[in-house]
Amino acid sequence: MEVVIIGSGFAGSVIARKLVEHHQDIKVTIYEKRNHIGGNMYDEIDENGVLIQKYGPHIFHTNNKEVFDFVGRFTEYRYFKHEVVGEIDGEIVPIPFNFAGIDTLFALKEATKIKKILMEKYEVNQRVSIGQLLESQDDMIRSFGEYVYEKVFVHYTAKQWGIPIDEIDTSVINRIPVVMGYERNHFSTKYQYMPKEGFKKIFDNMLDHHQIQVFCNVNAKTILNFNEEKRQVYVNGKKFDGPIVMTGALDELLDYKYGVLPYRSLDLKYENYKMNYFQTKPVVNYPNSEKFTRITEFKYLTGQRIDNTTTILKEYPCTYNPEKNTPFYPIVNKESYLRYAIYKKYFEKFAKLYLCGRLAEYKYYDMNSVITEAMKYAEKIIEENF
Ligand code: UDP
Repeated sequence: MEVVIIGSGFAGSVIARKLVEHHQDIKVTIYEKRNHIGGNMYDEIDENGVLIQKYGPHIFHTNNKEVFDFVGRFTEYRYFKHEVVGEIDGEIVPIPFNFAGIDTLFALKEATKIKKILMEKYEVNQRVSIGQLLESQDDMIRSFGEYVYEKVFVHYTAKQWGIPIDEIDTSVINRIPVVMGYERNHFSTKYQYMPKEGFKKIFDNMLDHHQIQVFCNVNAKTILNFNEEKRQVYVNGKKFDGPIVMTGALDELLDYKYGVLPYRSLDLKYENYKMNYFQTKPVVNYPNSEKFTRITEFKYLTGQRIDNTTTILKEYPCTYNPEKNTPFYPIVNKESYLRYAIYKKYFEKFAKLYLCGRLAEYKYYDMNSVITEAMKYAEKIIEENF
């Protein structure tokens, strides 16, 4: 029983592992386009000895115990409470914006008044979406919402996505709430841990199984063929009737026959400094100044102890061009989903083709959601095939 998987990020790797653990006769072959496994979670030691994440900052956190336990089989965990701050009007305030931000940016009397009104309406440390604040019936709360919207969201979002904030789905900005208290934890998830030795090790361990074979430097385009009328898939020129899991970009696989799926890309600029730490928090956002959106300092994320050297990352959002850069963020709006739906419909003709992951499902997934989905997909594939 053979299974072909395209891509070795979390989607492909979790499904591979789950399938081979289900039955000793299941053999999985993974084809990975890049010259390494691990998808965008891939990390490596840079020329300065600092562990960096090659495709931007990735932080593991989940409410799902099954996900936490499963990943925990392939790594030791290190507790990591993520903190983000933003530079607003020359001051540093927490993101999500919270009461400490109010104290910093408003005069004492005004700050006290705003906090009092918010406390009458919300629970301590309740996470409220910016959308809810903007729709509040209370004039004071609404105008506070408008202030946060302008200072934290409007310009960051325009910079990040290259389109005005009202052209992007509200689910995107609602990822970042406003906190009704002094809580500074960036996430509110139950399990917040980072892999002790980095993410690449997780993939090494997960894919280290005698029933899994991985081929890097292989683009799916060069090995997969589809005959639409016969509803037949060919792998390496031969009819293949087993399950195929596609975790890569659908438009690329079909040579962009229905157009390019819109993504936002990033120009990632790494800088090294001969100092212990460059900034005081893992991530500093720059909503209203600079061309980059944020600076991440990896030593905080990875917990690596190394003196007098630190590497930071500046993320410059840019237009996606399939020939030049990486599709990082699916642009979430009606138009792009319609185009995706056309690709999806094409692939639905092939009964045993499963689409999973950020690229193949064209969803702005966090890694924990990808893992959750991949676990469900593995169950589905088992149910339908084995
Ligand atoms: N966002 C913002 N200001 C911030 C942080 C985030 O406006 O200081 C908005 C922006 O539209 C961004 C979205 O919230 O794309 C999600 O942010 P998140 O930090 O979750 O993005 P990711 O870490 O996935 O890049």
